Amino acid sequence: MGIKVAKFGGTSLADDIQLVKIKNIIDDDPDIKYVIVSAPGKRFRADNKVTDLLYGIKAQKDSNLPYDQTFDIIKSRFDVMMMHLGIKLDLSGEYKNIIDQLENGATKDYIASRGEYLNALITAKYLGFDFIDAADLIMFDERGRFLEEETNDNIAAILSEHEHAVIPGFYGSKPNGKIKTFSRGGSDITGALVARAVGAEVYENWTDVSGFMITDPRIVPNARHIEYITYRELKELSHMGASVLHEDAIYPARAAGIPIKIKNTELPSHPGTLITEEVVEKNKDRIVTGFAGRKGFALFSIKKRAIEEDKGFYRKLAGAFEDRDCQIVHLLSGEDSAVVVVPNSSIEEKRLDIVDDLYDQLRAENVEVFDDVALVAAVGEGMKTIPGVYEKVLDSLTAEGIETGMIFQGLRRTNLIVAVLGKDYSRTIRTIYKALENK
Ligand code: ASP
Repeated sequence: MGIKVAKFGGTSLADDIQLVKIKNIIDDDPDIKYVIVSAPGKRFRADNKVTDLLYGIKAQKDSNLPYDQTFDIIKSRFDVMMMHLGIKLDLSGEYKNIIDQLENGATKDYIASRGEYLNALITAKYLGFDFIDAADLIMFDERGRFLEEETNDNIAAILSEHEHAVIPGFYGSKPNGKIKTFSRGGSDITGALVARAVGAEVYENWTDVSGFMITDPRIVPNARHIEYITYRELKELSHMGASVLHEDAIYPARAAGIPIKIKNTELPSHPGTLITEEVVEKNKDRIVTGFAGRKGFALFSIKKRAIEEDKGFYRKLAGAFEDRDCQIVHLLSGEDSAVVVVPNSSIEEKRLDIVDDLYDQLRAENVEVFDDVALVAAVGEGMKTIPGVYEKVLDSLTAEGIETGMIFQGLRRTNLIVAVLGKDYSRTIRTIYKALENK
């Protein structure tokens, strides 16, 4: 087996009990050579993430408010962890340094990064792995732009000298040594960058769920778990709001042809979800991999006879939205009608102007606007080989009395998108699910 890189998220590292679990996971798999850690997350619903507490002390300091109580909470999170696990590590110098830096105007990024930094020191000690500071691996330029190649070369060179290492996620450094963080949830990105640089066989992303479900189980109670998904399918589902991973973490792993495996720290024996470039053999006869959806769209239905005779029709149609800075999400047209879907948030007070333009410039015969529209998507590489999916979906929705403003199947036929009224959102997912999944 090749090298595995494992990233553990905040809930997987929230306290000493969690740390014991991750040690068991790592001890059970000698292929895990490099471990990337987040800062400790929430232990219970009303708890605070250490990163949020760190942003908190920076904000308190900037507003000249006392921050010692918040800092004591952070310290005790780490101290209790070490005490319960018998980890002999004196962090008093580190704590003092953070306070000194804070007093001397340390940046928000520096302060926020200390959760990952301290957690990695503790985890490395507990696992008996080397600690490597992400500031020495992940590079940004003076303006804070991520430097991809330098980072890759750096990680490859430095890690080649360490058989096992724990690396803090979320941050790197600029040429002047100043710390720069990725956006929130960015430890996923660090994990992917390390996986790519060391040529990992798989990038394991350990979290508090067992990967993806075929759809929201609150809508379809018996929704099954997705064991395999391709990067393309994941992208389409993510557009529709399904997400477990930081979006920027996908690119480095995918570019290097490394599969990502989402695993659950609470249930390590569960297979999780494997994200691969190509459809895996075992999954070849699945039609749909996932169903997802989003509310909050508006749909413009435009009627005009003989659209194809008006050469500038599409330019004028797109222009009516572009001129008012509204992004078109979907545009579909037939002989005598066109449908445009835009995010509700982008039209609000502009809708009447847009409608006026559509009448004036397009000479539309009728324009109707439906607010509160939802988009529901079925996504699956298997759909392209199976004929009649479109018809099946249409028939099932008609049979349920669900009105659709638009049904669209992409050219590659790996996704099918339906626009329905917001009130029919859950019913549409259930109906399509039944039509395609429980044949
Ligand atoms: N600790 C950071 C956050 O809360 C980064 C991460 O967990 O990935 O966003």
